[in-house]
Amino acid sequence: MKSLWADKEAEAFVERYRTEVINEDVALRVYTTRLLGGDSRLVLHGGGNSSVKTSMTDLVGETWDVLCVKGSGWDMGNIEPEGLPAVKLKPLLRARELSVLSDEDMVSLQRSNLIDPGAPNPSVETLLHAYLPHKYVDHTHSTAILAVTNQPDGEEICRRLFGHRAAMVPYIMPGFDLARLAGEIYEANLDVEGLVLHKHGIFTFGDTAKQSYERMINIVCLAEEYIAGFDSKQFSPVRLPGATAPVGDVAAILRGACAVSEGSKPRRMVTEFRTSPAIMNYVNGREAGDYATRGVTTPDLVIRVKQKPLIVPPPEAGRLEKFKQAVIGGVNDYVADYTRYFEENNGLVDNIKVMIDPIPRLVLVPGMGMFALGRSKKAARVAADVGENIIATVSDAEAIGSFDPLPDKDLFDLEYWSLEQAKLGKADEAPLAGQVVVITGGGGTIGRATAGLMSENGAHVAVLDRVGDDAAEVAGEIGNDAIGIACDVTAPGEVEAAFAQICEEYGGIDILVSNAGAAWEGDIGTMPDETLRQSFELNFFAHQQVAQHAVRIMLQQGTGGVLLFNTSKQAVNPGANFGAYGLPKAATLLLSRQYALEYGRYGIRSNAVNADRIRGGLLTDDMIASRAEARGMEEGDYMAGNLLHREVGAEHVAKAFLDLALAERTTAGITTVDGGNIAAALR
Ligand code: ZN
Repeated sequence: MKSLWADKEAEAFVERYRTEVINEDVALRVYTTRLLGGDSRLVLHGGGNSSVKTSMTDLVGETWDVLCVKGSGWDMGNIEPEGLPAVKLKPLLRARELSVLSDEDMVSLQRSNLIDPGAPNPSVETLLHAYLPHKYVDHTHSTAILAVTNQPDGEEICRRLFGHRAAMVPYIMPGFDLARLAGEIYEANLDVEGLVLHKHGIFTFGDTAKQSYERMINIVCLAEEYIAGFDSKQFSPVRLPGATAPVGDVAAILRGACAVSEGSKPRRMVTEFRTSPAIMNYVNGREAGDYATRGVTTPDLVIRVKQKPLIVPPPEAGRLEKFKQAVIGGVNDYVADYTRYFEENNGLVDNIKVMIDPIPRLVLVPGMGMFALGRSKKAARVAADVGENIIATVSDAEAIGSFDPLPDKDLFDLEYWSLEQAKLGKADEAPLAGQVVVITGGGGTIGRATAGLMSENGAHVAVLDRVGDDAAEVAGEIGNDAIGIACDVTAPGEVEAAFAQICEEYGGIDILVSNAGAAWEGDIGTMPDETLRQSFELNFFAHQQVAQHAVRIMLQQGTGGVLLFNTSKQAVNPGANFGAYGLPKAATLLLSRQYALEYGRYGIRSNAVNADRIRGGLLTDDMIASRAEARGMEEGDYMAGNLLHREVGAEHVAKAFLDLALAERTTAGITTVDGGNIAAALR
């Protein structure tokens, strides 16, 4: 690890950030905080913090000595001055004379002394920053420091390695007591450049931003050089099957087994898959059940990935059912184990805590890699980053000795500490949170509107379209980690590849909106067979094709699912010259009912939407003009030619798809979205 400090960059930060209220001290604090936060070997997602002691003027012109310290909810890698709330320093220093200070009182002391009352909560490690006298203080959870401290003789190794440059602080949980102890240890070792917090991380400090930052890099380098003196750890591997099952199938089985029931519904998560030589070395290890389950490398990671991962057997190709049973058994054991961990430790704190969900967030799969789970793709990615970080640190710890983390009791205290739970924020309660929606014909007018509405309601959406650019464009527009996939739904190979890709990306599928379609016109009596067959390929067989794939995945997950078919008014009310379109659509309407009939017992619902006269897509502006003219009507009157006298838009069709996706007791149904047409009404 090298210092990335550059005078020019530092000047540029001062230039960019210095204003009437933000001084040079804070601008430089932003600069080096970002340098530290940009390296995952030092800081991960919300971990670590930094501060500067400076002065600031309030609204009435009074100037105060303040501590600008990282606020909770901010990442060091992209911090802004607003992410460093200013707290009046004097009251923080006076609190040091107290004999006790509860966490709640500590938070209110910090909040009530903010210069800006609207600022975020100052870090839970604020007091520690305050009790070190230096202008700049930096704190990271460096993986190299964690590899050398998470050892049975970790303190001894550190004393040898760092000598007089850093003093050791024994592990205690962040808060008032740790802050006071760190302050005392510093005062007994006035010549040190930093403090190593046993099995937690490292603080460095200095008179300037550069000095404090470079001391961090230098001390971390000593640990890195020490680790480099050992051969990297090669875990002795388990026997792997000759052929491993596909990643998408394994993902769907894991995702299904990890969907706990919440009332009558499964609470689903999505997955993030990672693999690399380092991950494979770790997950393939015969002793993984030991080294991988001892604990986490620094206690605050427990809120992202719990105290240990789930380890499953290697998934052999062609033997998925056996693998599935092993995974279900493994999840049950994990839940029982977590519940025991909770109850034992909750007993030690007078049973005041309430258990959070006991489901694993990391799953190690020998022969394949690591899966992370989260309520959203973003949460899954964070868990995966943490998992990779732990794998690297534990591998290093095992190379230099033996990985010896904090015991469960300390992890429990952190996991159930109200101040840490606050980092996770409120659970996303959008109705489709944790669910994966696939939309075919997603680049068209109805597909686009439906994709957007599903995404707004919390779903991750895979947009399939024959034109890959259109699919990608829609996915980009709707956000929420949507993906666009080029897929001709009449080409079986492309459909298979698309569904495999969706499973690899999210871990499965919950809702299929089979929407792709196109109209062929012509007199039924003279129409060439070829035209009718072509229309059946797209307007019937493609629906069957995607439904088969979706159902296969839904059964693997075992958490039910929803099939939705766009069938059109033509399915029940034929129009002249539209036979080639209406006939396969009628078959698709029955296809929807057939799936409802045969798969209802697995919790899979199947419904159809009959829409009519939607502008765009099949019904172009030219067609509207010519049909209106043929009927001797104004275009507007033609489009609103229904019982409600209102034009029907793609957004109304999208709403029908959403409603059916959410209608828990509706299957084999047909929803009409045409503004009312008695001739096309079902009877
Ligand atoms: Zn920390």
